[in-house]
Amino acid sequence: MEKTSYNIAIDGPAGAGKSTIAKLVARKLGFVYVDTGAMYRAMALYFIRRGIRPEDEAAVSQAAPGAGILIRYEDGVQQVILNGENVSGLIRTEQVGNMASATSIYPAVRAHLLDLQRGLAASTDVIMDGRDIGTCILPDADTKIFLTADPHVRAMRRYKELTEKGETCNLQEIEQDIIERDQRDMTRETAPLRQAEDAVLVDGSQLTIDQVVERIIREARARGLKAE
Ligand code: C5P
Repeated sequence: MEKTSYNIAIDGPAGAGKSTIAKLVARKLGFVYVDTGAMYRAMALYFIRRGIRPEDEAAVSQAAPGAGILIRYEDGVQQVILNGENVSGLIRTEQVGNMASATSIYPAVRAHLLDLQRGLAASTDVIMDGRDIGTCILPDADTKIFLTADPHVRAMRRYKELTEKGETCNLQEIEQDIIERDQRDMTRETAPLRQAEDAVLVDGSQLTIDQVVERIIREARARGLKAE
């Protein structure tokens, strides 16, 4: 598919602030924000509902094609549709996140989402976040950012986010989960989390959200994005 749009890829470990930042960049630039983690989470929910164990690669791979995932936008906000049901409000739990991390290692799961993700970027200006966007999904993205932060800072942010939503959680467990998830994402065979050679590394540990947003916009301007 020939690319006619401007694409920004933003990858990095769990809780680095990718989605918060990507949403703000999208709003400032008039881009569409594509959250690929939400697609893995919707698939994870599908596996959980079917009682599939994450270790059972054969069962996960066999079930994967049955998860019809669609993306829709309501007032500019991404909605994930699983077999006709809007599951956006059901996928932000630690249980679903852990299942997504455990099942996203399988090639059948990744292959199932590849065309959907590439298709969204082909004709629309997008900022797409995930783990393998710059390396695998959009290797020709115009601007690639690898956003990271100290694991403790990331755990604190996730803890705050979950408690604000009324979920009970434990900071130490969250930090442990984050470390395990990073490990799994970085060491899996298919599309591991890593910084693309041509990606700009941004460590957000000591930066405000606005500073990271401005930095990304600056990088995009330096790579051919026209000012409005
Ligand atoms: O970013 P988020 O925490 O919502 O993603 C959930 C899980 O989905 C991640 O832990 C990761 O294992 C997986 N994922 C992935 N590739 C992507 C996006 C998410 O493997 N592009």
